[in-house]
Amino acid sequence: MSKARTYNIVVLPGDGVGPEVAEAAVGVLRVIGDFYGHTFNFSEHLIGGAAIDATGDPLPEETRAACVAADAVLLGAVGGPKWDGGKRRPEEGLLNIRKAMGLFANLRPLQVSPVLAHRSPLKKEIVEGVDLIVFRELTGGVYFGEKTRTDTMASDLCIYTVEEIERVARAAFQTALQRRGKVTSVDKANVMETSRLWREVVTRIHAQEFPQVQLEHALVDSMAMHLIRKPRDYDVILTENMFGDILSDEISVLGGSIGLLPSASLGSVGPGLFEPIHGSAPDIAGQDLANPVGTILSAALLLRHSLKLEDEADSIEAAVAAVLAAGATTADLGGALGTRAAANAVIDAIKAIH
Ligand code: ATP
Ligand code: MG
Repeated sequence: MSKARTYNIVVLPGDGVGPEVAEAAVGVLRVIGDFYGHTFNFSEHLIGGAAIDATGDPLPEETRAACVAADAVLLGAVGGPKWDGGKRRPEEGLLNIRKAMGLFANLRPLQVSPVLAHRSPLKKEIVEGVDLIVFRELTGGVYFGEKTRTDTMASDLCIYTVEEIERVARAAFQTALQRRGKVTSVDKANVMETSRLWREVVTRIHAQEFPQVQLEHALVDSMAMHLIRKPRDYDVILTENMFGDILSDEISVLGGSIGLLPSASLGSVGPGLFEPIHGSAPDIAGQDLANPVGTILSAALLLRHSLKLEDEADSIEAAVAAVLAAGATTADLGGALGTRAAANAVIDAIKAIH
């Protein structure tokens, strides 16, 4: 058991279903804290549309300061039709907090439980037992390069520095060491210079620092195909910003419901930001309908990556797996439970495990 300690966790409930799923995950974290003897101090702050309504600013200075000083940050979701066409956009709050916290790697794990494999658009035999994690670089590449436009042409510059590639590669290799020990680095090295640099740097970091990990390189076009044909072959997938954006959406449909999937955004030092991959789901907000599992699994990633509490993270993941196997699910997965009842089912499963 890890040593008991006090941790400061900032909670950003945000908009739509954000407050409901954040509350569910905080409830689970409180129970984990009690079991392992940790003190989790939670402090709630405004972001997104809720922050615009209260202060006019989607990322108030007070929220920014609290996040950078915290041990970790848990976010619900931001945005919604209420703020469409307004002067400030809720999503600005999210982009700016990522920047303020220096987050450069976005992680999206996907596990397909055998009991939910039939909900995938792919054949059960193909997705059953999938267990992979995508590491997407967040700060470089074509999204951030200089953009030009004339009447007859447009361009987006794609830039990567050695340092940007090194830091995300290290994060991916380190995670592979705690998993099945395999990294698949995805690029387009047959055509793009940034991809040739990407491949060189990843190959060097592997040889110098992580020779015990198995490394393979894949071209993004064939990777898009392989992910549909044999997703079970992958452990850690490491890729640049745009390829990661596209592949992680492709991968997110393998699992059944968007409400299940967590994410983590990490920097090299300081707190990470943890949130479900779904948005604010305004169509079901405030009705106790949202699946809280994506946020609860994000809380597990928070424990593992920011607080280094591996056993505690494993407990949450085991409890979620047990609950899904028992069919105690929300409506998106065909179950009858509301958000609160689904979170309580996870809490009961944690108690049963301990
Ligand atoms: P964003 O632009 O913020 O990503 P979006 O409009 O693309 O938002 P979501 O808000 O994720 O997408 O909603 C997409 C669909 O998935 C909606 O029908 C929504 O109700 C559903 N959905 C999203 N999250 C959940 C959840 N936790 N549980 C159940 N259904 C969900
Ligand atoms: Mg979306």
